[in-house]
Amino acid sequence: MSFDYDLFVIGGGSGGVRAARIAAGEHGARVGLAEESRMGGTCVIRGCVPKKLMVYASNAPLMAEEMRGYGWGEATSGAFDWQIFRRKLHAELDRLERAYTTNAEKAGVEIHHQRARLADHHTVELADGTRKTAKHILIAVGGRPSKIGIPGEELGLISDDLFLLEQLPRRALLIGGGFIACEFATILNGLGVETVQAYRGDAVLRGFDREAREMASEQLRQIGVDLRLGRSPKRLEKAGERVRAQFDDDSEDTFDAVFFATGRDPYTRDLGLENTGLRLKENGAIEVDAWSQTPVPSIFAVGDVTDRVNLTPVAIREGHSFADTVFGARPRKVSHDPVASAVYLRPCELGTIGLTEEQAMARGPVDVYSAVFRPMRSMFAGSESRTMMKLLVDPETDRVLGCHIFGPEAGEMIQLAAIPITMGATKADFDATMAVHPTAAEELVTMRQPSRRHAGAGN
Ligand code: NDP
Repeated sequence: MSFDYDLFVIGGGSGGVRAARIAAGEHGARVGLAEESRMGGTCVIRGCVPKKLMVYASNAPLMAEEMRGYGWGEATSGAFDWQIFRRKLHAELDRLERAYTTNAEKAGVEIHHQRARLADHHTVELADGTRKTAKHILIAVGGRPSKIGIPGEELGLISDDLFLLEQLPRRALLIGGGFIACEFATILNGLGVETVQAYRGDAVLRGFDREAREMASEQLRQIGVDLRLGRSPKRLEKAGERVRAQFDDDSEDTFDAVFFATGRDPYTRDLGLENTGLRLKENGAIEVDAWSQTPVPSIFAVGDVTDRVNLTPVAIREGHSFADTVFGARPRKVSHDPVASAVYLRPCELGTIGLTEEQAMARGPVDVYSAVFRPMRSMFAGSESRTMMKLLVDPETDRVLGCHIFGPEAGEMIQLAAIPITMGATKADFDATMAVHPTAAEELVTMRQPSRRHAGAGN
């Protein structure tokens, strides 16, 4: 049977574009790709990239404060102009979108700027009704923000909306305590928005190392976010131009904008899955094996729609490995453990890889090397801000099981620490490494004695 393409990719985000480019550009496959929105997907258009630029923008008041501590008596951040920033931001996103498009086209990918759905195991139907056949189909449609099913939630915004606001709200509510809620609270607060964050748990960032979670919660409060723990809204209603939130402790408050940052769901709605017999996991994700292959042999899926580790670099690696395996005769599986990540808070970020202290304790005996200190840079400026470096070490093998860094530029630090840890480094390897002085990161190679030892199984 002859097909229109060797590969048809549904979704022009990080995973889909990488798979398409490698399959076409490096392995000579005939590749079609459909994207219903903007090329680049969540990360480039409405996620990591604009978010990180906003983190930089929001840092000005903290920098001014620090500089006053260094003798710049009059230093102020001045007034933030959302219109100027927004114009620049969208020009940059347009540039990146063009780059994604031209790079894919240069590699030989034929892009269809419309929605596609599955018609059968080898066929996709485009929004204009045309059908394209392909020997292989890759689903890389990502995820979409989800709300929590409370009355009036249609009055609330989602993370996509932040980057499109005509004006910044004067007072905003962030619902949730995950990556997005904490980063957005930090950003909005830094840009001068009066920010309330309501999270149902007792410390933000569930799933991260407990000590780091407490430091992150504390920092949000220190920078001025009104963090309300153990609280979640149960209803939203209109209050003139504003939105009133009723919380589950029966308190009420009114905001100019309410953002749900309460997780993301795989975007499988109306994808035509019923035409293929593809199965979904309980949470709506597409089920795949270690090769990103679904139970239908011609159909593969990568990225957030498979809900493995929902991070851009993971989707890119999955897309690349898929293309090498299927079109390059270079079979490559993706290891999802360990995967480093960072939460871009200010002034301290959280960088993490491997087991948390709690997970390590549940696994068995663990030595905890932990340093909590006021770094030279902020201490001199008079800040109370604290940094944490933590290594979790298996006392039997000496292997480093996890590393957690809470401090300025922790994202950069954890990227480098991730190399030896992924290679299986031992504590002795860290000890043998000469320190770079004076840095905050040198603590990682100078912690001689464990701060505590756990016998294992939660002891
Ligand atoms: P997360 O899963 O990280 O957080 C969701 C938050 O919403 C949690 O605090 C959760 O609470 C809360 N929540 C969920 N359901 C309810 C409910 N019914 N009522 C009240 N609260 C609720 O999702 P995000 O939306 O923050 O981010 C989505 C994904 O995007 C992340 O998983 C991450 O992979 C990715 N991302 C990565 C970033 C990075 O790498 N820096 C940045 C931003 C996003 P609880 O914890 O109690 O369940």
